[in-house]
Amino acid sequence: MRFPASLYVSMTSYLVGKKLRGVEQFPLVLMLEPTHRCNLSCAGCGRIREYHDTLSREMSLEDCLTSIEEAGTPIVTITGGEPLLYSQVPQLVEETLGRGRHIYFCTNGLLLEEALSLFRPNPHFTWNVHFDGTEHVHDAIIGKPGGFSKALAGIKAAKAKGFRVSTNTTVYRESSVIDIARLFQQLTKAGVDGILVAPGFSYEEVVRDVFLTRSEIVRKFREISSWGRDFPIISNPLYLEFVSGKRSLKCTPWGNPTRNSQGWKSPCYLITDTHYRTFAELMDRTDWDHYVSGEDPRCSQCMVHCGFEPTIARQMGLKDLFRMLRWNLNV
Ligand code: SF4
Ligand code: SF4
Repeated sequence: MRFPASLYVSMTSYLVGKKLRGVEQFPLVLMLEPTHRCNLSCAGCGRIREYHDTLSREMSLEDCLTSIEEAGTPIVTITGGEPLLYSQVPQLVEETLGRGRHIYFCTNGLLLEEALSLFRPNPHFTWNVHFDGTEHVHDAIIGKPGGFSKALAGIKAAKAKGFRVSTNTTVYRESSVIDIARLFQQLTKAGVDGILVAPGFSYEEVVRDVFLTRSEIVRKFREISSWGRDFPIISNPLYLEFVSGKRSLKCTPWGNPTRNSQGWKSPCYLITDTHYRTFAELMDRTDWDHYVSGEDPRCSQCMVHCGFEPTIARQMGLKDLFRMLRWNLNV
């Protein structure tokens, strides 16, 4: 199975519950950024640039837990920054799992091996380690020689201890499809449970032109999206049809709401107009129709999963549901 059965059950019952109650706009995955502090300075990172002045701030544990309750999503992605630098990270993980949530813990992997002793394997907990290419390419993007091998060692140590591990790859303008295939071979050999892949977003704060236009995304993903049987790719197959130009989707900007030390980020994980104090304010006061329409110029080249994967869940009919079930069972 590509995802644990428990995650599938949690998400399906959550979706059915919302539909039965006639709720139209609801989140699926909370993106929780307890700190934006990081031990790297990657070329394509919008976060450390946008939040440059507040990098040293972090959310209190209480604020993190309140946000989890406010959003009510079955999945919490703990991200950043580098969330292993958050001062109360073991408590945050334990408390989140204690509330019955599934966690995807995003990390650049540099501190992973040393941090493993702070955590226990749990079927609801998955490490999600970022790799942008094979060793030479990845180290160049993150600006740290040795970063790739450190993260790979972290993955192997985590697997040896019984943790679930997935990886996350961002595709940039200079990414070579051949290099990404080689990376996926290496990750598959290392025993990862899943591989996520998505195009990068053109952050205004990133001055270098490293991001893909929509037509460039489609060209690269026509090939990448055909690798589902070769590697344990867990990016949604219907989303992969979208990025390879075979399906059209509108964005669901409220699907993966983001909470950080400034508040609830509006309108989405990628662009910021403002931050709200509560989740209810984010939902009530953001002009969702404007972003769903795609008219905002910042949305014009965006095909990032956090905006479009929730659309699939929102629009999924019986046929798609059956197809997703077969895909998860790998049949
Ligand atoms: S590891 Fe993540 S948060 Fe840190 S600089 Fe790189 S992309 Fe940004
Ligand atoms: S299209 Fe992209 S940038 Fe625009 S609202 Fe959706 S996720 Fe955000």
